[in-house]
Amino acid sequence: MSGEQACSTFSDVGCIGLALNAQACHVGIAGIIGWILLAFGMTCTDTMARTEWIKEKELLVAYKEKLKEMTKQISFLKQQLWNATILRSQPAKKSFSPTQGNTLFLITPTHTRPEQKAELTRLSQTLLLVPNLHWIVVEDSASKTLLVSKFLSECSLNYTHLNVKTPDNYKLQSKDPNWLKPRGVLQRNLALHWLRNNIDIQTQKGVVYFADDDNTYSLKLFEEMRDTKIVSVWPVGLVGGLRYEKPIVNNGKVTQWFTYWKPRRPFAMDMAGFAVNLHRFFEFKEAKFDYNVPRGYQESVLLQGLQVKMTDLEPKAELCTKILVWHTRTEKTKLKNEERMKMQFGHGSDPQIEL
Ligand code: UDP
Ligand code: MN
Repeated sequence: MSGEQACSTFSDVGCIGLALNAQACHVGIAGIIGWILLAFGMTCTDTMARTEWIKEKELLVAYKEKLKEMTKQISFLKQQLWNATILRSQPAKKSFSPTQGNTLFLITPTHTRPEQKAELTRLSQTLLLVPNLHWIVVEDSASKTLLVSKFLSECSLNYTHLNVKTPDNYKLQSKDPNWLKPRGVLQRNLALHWLRNNIDIQTQKGVVYFADDDNTYSLKLFEEMRDTKIVSVWPVGLVGGLRYEKPIVNNGKVTQWFTYWKPRRPFAMDMAGFAVNLHRFFEFKEAKFDYNVPRGYQESVLLQGLQVKMTDLEPKAELCTKILVWHTRTEKTKLKNEERMKMQFGHGSDPQIEL
């Protein structure tokens, strides 16, 4: 083999080698390009999918936001509709004419405590649904409080605001059981005094009802009492340690009282269990509540003062078979952590925020 040959042979081999290399190289490059293309393609598809996904996600977020907005708007419109309904069904502010029937004069004694505004809110919003009503609110305080004054001015009811403080010796102490002393005596008397001195009985027809601020009243009760001729009566739920107390009715007349406690009282029922025609208070001008009577006799002393007889009683609520008022009592809220906060942080809740 000549050198050239060898060389050529070598060269051939080399060329083959190169060719092989080149081939391998081509295959390699193609592979890499293919891989890149594939990877790029995949990345592209992936990126596209991702973009799509992000778009969808953004759309979804936007929809969610829109839905939230619309839900808010719906509840706002619902509230508007409700307010309009309430205001329409509230002729209490309009002037009263005899054709509307008796005006209901509701007498509510009330006293300052953490739950007061909650009670007044609940009661006033029931009363908003009662037509032809005059609410006489009597505060147990030496002067009218800002809380009650503001509350009444904003309650949309036809009202009179009075006040008289219960003397300390008649006031329940915080540890006293609630039955120890009668509550609301002077406040109810002041309201009766106001009625007798401010109402023209020749033109005004009405019915008087003593509505404590913590009871629960069905709207039906107010229509039951509206045509009271002398005194109407009905059962009261959750009172006297019983499911209810009620007048016992025989042949359409009240003959006795269904109560465990002192059933021999002349009118053995709770304050929430009767209403009196306004005229009666003008016929018997001295009739009122009185501290100097045995426990449980407030209702009796008033009705006896009004010369009411058992035969005068008009049983309502389907002959006293339905309960339309409940003597509910609100649990005293414990505010013990207010003091603890003061001790620990120097202040409790903000007294500027009205409760
Ligand atoms: N009341 C009042 N001063 C008091 C306690 C009570 O004016 O010191 C009011 C009270 O807000 C309610 C009515 O008198 O409207 C009857 O009081 P309460 O509900 O405590 O009596 P009970 O439910 O025990 O009959
Ligand atoms: Mn009560």
